[in-house]
Amino acid sequence: MSGDDKKVRVRFAPSPTGRLHVGNIRTALFNFLFARHSGGEFMLRLDDTDVSRSTDAFAQGIKDDLTWLGLDWDIEAKQSERYVEYEKAVRLITEAGRLYPCYETADELDLKRRRQLARGRPPVYDRAALTMSEEELDKYEKEGRRPHWRFKLDHRVITWKDLVRGEQKIDAASFSDPVMIRQGGGYLYTLPSVVDDIDFQISHVIRGEDHVANTAAQIQLFEALGADAPQFGHHNLLVNADGEALSKRKNSLAIAGLREDGLEPLAVNSHAATIGTSYPVAPYQHMEQIAELFDFSKLSRAPARFDENELRQVNARFLHELEYAGASEHLEKLKITGGEPFWLAVRGNLDLFGDVEQWWRVVAGEITPLIDDEALCEAAQNLLPSEPFDAQTWSSWTKAIKDETGAKGKGLFMPLRKALTGQEHGPELKLLLPMMDRARIIARLQGQTA
Ligand code: GLU
Repeated sequence: MSGDDKKVRVRFAPSPTGRLHVGNIRTALFNFLFARHSGGEFMLRLDDTDVSRSTDAFAQGIKDDLTWLGLDWDIEAKQSERYVEYEKAVRLITEAGRLYPCYETADELDLKRRRQLARGRPPVYDRAALTMSEEELDKYEKEGRRPHWRFKLDHRVITWKDLVRGEQKIDAASFSDPVMIRQGGGYLYTLPSVVDDIDFQISHVIRGEDHVANTAAQIQLFEALGADAPQFGHHNLLVNADGEALSKRKNSLAIAGLREDGLEPLAVNSHAATIGTSYPVAPYQHMEQIAELFDFSKLSRAPARFDENELRQVNARFLHELEYAGASEHLEKLKITGGEPFWLAVRGNLDLFGDVEQWWRVVAGEITPLIDDEALCEAAQNLLPSEPFDAQTWSSWTKAIKDETGAKGKGLFMPLRKALTGQEHGPELKLLLPMMDRARIIARLQGQTA
């Protein structure tokens, strides 16, 4: 089967050396959306070959973050359980003469690079290890030096049709033979990743454009291992207001933090899926809608600027449109019993879901009223109709107060709002009033905390 008609199976392959952040969830999201869009499968692969930095706690944290975002995976694997497969691949490429030991220390390599740069040459590894004599190799071994292992690239132009960037051409001679195995034996991610992509029949590799050079080397690895390379798509990266890449080392916004702050997963997904694309940045109420829109050709090639305020605005807009059905469970957890009328009255005033509590206190709890106009508040007490209140109560009540006091417009409504809610802004009072208790309203108009 060619890459085009293979069943879609994609993977998100984080290293469990940190938690997910806004810079890397787009990779997870695009893979997930593409899988859902194409009726394919989404795999979570934990790239945990770096034993010194990978932890189970980070792996669990990544799963928690994905689960919270609603990015459920169909298949899971971790690289630390697949060494046998990597060793087989190492044997294959060794037999084919594509893997070679190098004894240079990090300092020696650094010196070489600096010399090349000083002469105006690109800092590409000179393959000195390939021309070393047996005696030199022996000497290194006796000195106790241990090798690292490089994959010998075939020096020709590597091409692929990138799903986002279009036709790509990279001259393999323009970069160093990549290190596959560290000194001391640990695998770098390059080879395990290709072995896994082959074994798990990954059809499309969707990842950030910081991996473009890896792709060129990996395409040769796929060939060396006798497999067809998958299709590749490299999406743009996020940058902060200063144009710096958002990477996990730069203290980027963690998904766990957004969750603790009370943001909505669908707002985070909507924002992540639309920034840096030709779609307007907007909230979507369902993951299916985002998946339906997903299209590589809409991704911009320029870096996308991440702005936390914009994310928060998307969150607020998401809540303003959220149907009661989507809110009821959460309201119940907060022991808010106002039902749909309450939700519809207050949703337009929320930045974060948690803000509902403050409006629920206005309706059924305690607040400290602000009394600006005592005379008006007194007239309001006397004119307040008896219960039950309905949708008309507010207009008939305020009309009566207006007729009695002569107050109108802001001079009429603002003192009432401040007495009844303790705030200058908020949901429409004609909607809140029918949910409020008459005795509480009277007490607030008298300036009592109620
Ligand atoms: N573990 C690699 C990373 O996090 C995976 C890259 C890939 O998707 O192939 O960068």
